[in-house]
Amino acid sequence: MNSLLERAKKLDASDVLAHKIDEFYLPDGLIYLDGNSLGPLSYAAQARVKEVVELQWGQSLIESWNSHNWISLPATVGDKIAPLLGAPKGSVVSCDSISVNLFKLLSAGLMYQQGASTSRPYILSQSDNFPTDLYMVQGLSQLMGKQKCELLSVPSHDIQTTLLEKGEQISVLMLSHVNFKNGDIIDIQAITELAHSKGVLVLWDVAHSAGVLPLQLEQWKVDFAVGCSYKYLNGGPGAPGFAYVAPALQAKLQQPLSGWMGHKAPFSFDHQYEKAPGIEQLLAGTPSIISMSTLEAALSVFDTLSVHTIRDKSIALNDFFQECIEPLLKTNLLTLACETNAANRGSQISFAHPDAYGICQALIAENVIADFRAPNILRIGFSPLFLSFQNIYDAANILSNIMRSKCYQNLEFQVRQRVT
Ligand SMILES: *Cc1c(COP(=O)(O)O)cnc(C)c1O
Repeated sequence: MNSLLERAKKLDASDVLAHKIDEFYLPDGLIYLDGNSLGPLSYAAQARVKEVVELQWGQSLIESWNSHNWISLPATVGDKIAPLLGAPKGSVVSCDSISVNLFKLLSAGLMYQQGASTSRPYILSQSDNFPTDLYMVQGLSQLMGKQKCELLSVPSHDIQTTLLEKGEQISVLMLSHVNFKNGDIIDIQAITELAHSKGVLVLWDVAHSAGVLPLQLEQWKVDFAVGCSYKYLNGGPGAPGFAYVAPALQAKLQQPLSGWMGHKAPFSFDHQYEKAPGIEQLLAGTPSIISMSTLEAALSVFDTLSVHTIRDKSIALNDFFQECIEPLLKTNLLTLACETNAANRGSQISFAHPDAYGICQALIAENVIADFRAPNILRIGFSPLFLSFQNIYDAANILSNIMRSKCYQNLEFQVRQRVT
């Protein structure tokens, strides 16, 4: 047996999370390196889908709003996500998507900052932020007018100097903790502190860190955060997102999507909107119960886990993969498009290659699922709850064979699908 395979087996034997794979429903023979895009189905989620559809909806019908506590789901699911974010009870709510939650929080932040004057028109962000984050600010800017809301986007390495130079004109700093393409990590605590020293509110998008990187939103004095639950939280396709608002800010905000579920008494059917006092003020319309209930069950796989343990394995998987493909890097068959040290990036590795799309398709043909991010990035995600080191070893071998044979140039691998 070669030494890397031996190492993989040893690492698996001492892996404290190895038993977690039994909680997931994964097709035989598949190596799933895309849990960072759509987490897999857990048995808990599978059972819940059946229960919520057949028993709750099917048998108890409308009664379930009370008897199965559907009405409280946004808050109870929020409270289940909170420990993964280092957030206290009552500070997180499950609702809508990241995009919609950004709209609510950014506009609430702008209105709060501009209560007295409109001297802070800017929302500052990274130019390589996830596109929807930037698009939402562009839409908000059109709605409010540039004198009240304008996107200021700068390269990540210029965030600090921009805060120092223009801080007094910025209402909200909106950043992603982990960059979706290259996995770059930003120091939340340091940047939040700097922004606060300039009177800037801070919103963090933790889409690529929730459930896989330790977070301390409360301790780091973060104002707002958003995230999705279909990535590392395994909530299912289109599962509802979540939003965090620091408890001290909750009484001071007003968000503009003032729907009845965010009213302090939705069933009083008052004509005048009055926001709910706590985090439920972020709700707008009726929640997606089937999806939210499924997410609640999916979160149970985290019940007894520390995110630190998850992060440790994430780094170990990431390191081991890099070691296995080292010959490809040395011979320039592949080029890293991320930090070289796994501890300095999110739970992923990225490569830049002009044929990244074809390589990704060739991997999929071999039952190894990764993803492609335009224009030229091959992205491989490491979800520590269901991947073994042997999976990593096998995936690295398959990738090596593809790179050496150049089979990714075959025509069959060039056809672009709508979703990449
Ligand atoms: C996945 C992701 C999104 C997705 O936004 P939705 O509105 O939930 O579709 C947004 N931002 C980041 C950083 C992401 O990684």
